[in-house]
Amino acid sequence: MPEPARGAALPAFFEFSAPAAWRAVDFISDLHLCEAMPATFKAWERHLRQTTADAVFILGDLFEVWVGDDARHRPFERRCVDVLADAASHRKVAFMAGNRDFLVGAALLRDAGLMALPDPTVLSAWGQPVLLSHGDALCLADTPYQAFRREVRTPAWQAGFLARPLPERLALATEMRRASAEHWRAQNAAGTGRFGLDGDAAADVDAAEAVRWMHALGAAEMVHGHTHRPGSNLLAPGFKRHVLSDWDLDTAQRAEVLRLTRRGFERLPPAGR
Ligand code: MN
Repeated sequence: MPEPARGAALPAFFEFSAPAAWRAVDFISDLHLCEAMPATFKAWERHLRQTTADAVFILGDLFEVWVGDDARHRPFERRCVDVLADAASHRKVAFMAGNRDFLVGAALLRDAGLMALPDPTVLSAWGQPVLLSHGDALCLADTPYQAFRREVRTPAWQAGFLARPLPERLALATEMRRASAEHWRAQNAAGTGRFGLDGDAAADVDAAEAVRWMHALGAAEMVHGHTHRPGSNLLAPGFKRHVLSDWDLDTAQRAEVLRLTRRGFERLPPAGR
């Protein structure tokens, strides 16, 4: 297995140019939507319906888990699809996969009216290129997670997983998250490392690699989620990154939108709150 990734070939960057008439783009990520988090779902639904932005870019981990597009017909997932499709009939809604929902496929994108954003993507808006990524691919210090990520992103692994019955996939996903959390707790107790979880358990993005990507693109700013450590800071002189907040309005009071306009980035509460 080759070592990841720093100094390796640059990834292919998808490019999207914002139409000149756009005035604002909202970035959100790490909603981790699930039936057990109704207040978070409600706030997300309200934001998608009420935001004044021309576009909402969802940068990964919209869903707590996505085990295949046949899940879109289950009751909770159906409600999510309806919210997305309604929003997409009024504004552009774009979706980049995260580590929880990398199995989102063409059927969900179609039914929900989503524009697919490969990771990484370069958004050109008002003359400025901005690098967009979920963030997990840049957490190079977490080598066990990077190995896991490479495996589950292969067509062979995905075909094997998707061939299993839906209830089995849902049970497997629950078990994988439980095992991953336990592994992390054990590693963390021993002070030896981390294992590819989001939030507190996530490694940070590798600053040198992120700057290398930005430098290659001529992008002075990037937006990512995944680490659940919202804030904006310089990774190197002239290279600024904006980290998105996760959303939890059920066990906490945390939800934030990062908005880009001609004047730059600003952080806002969700619309209607
Ligand atoms: Mn994530």
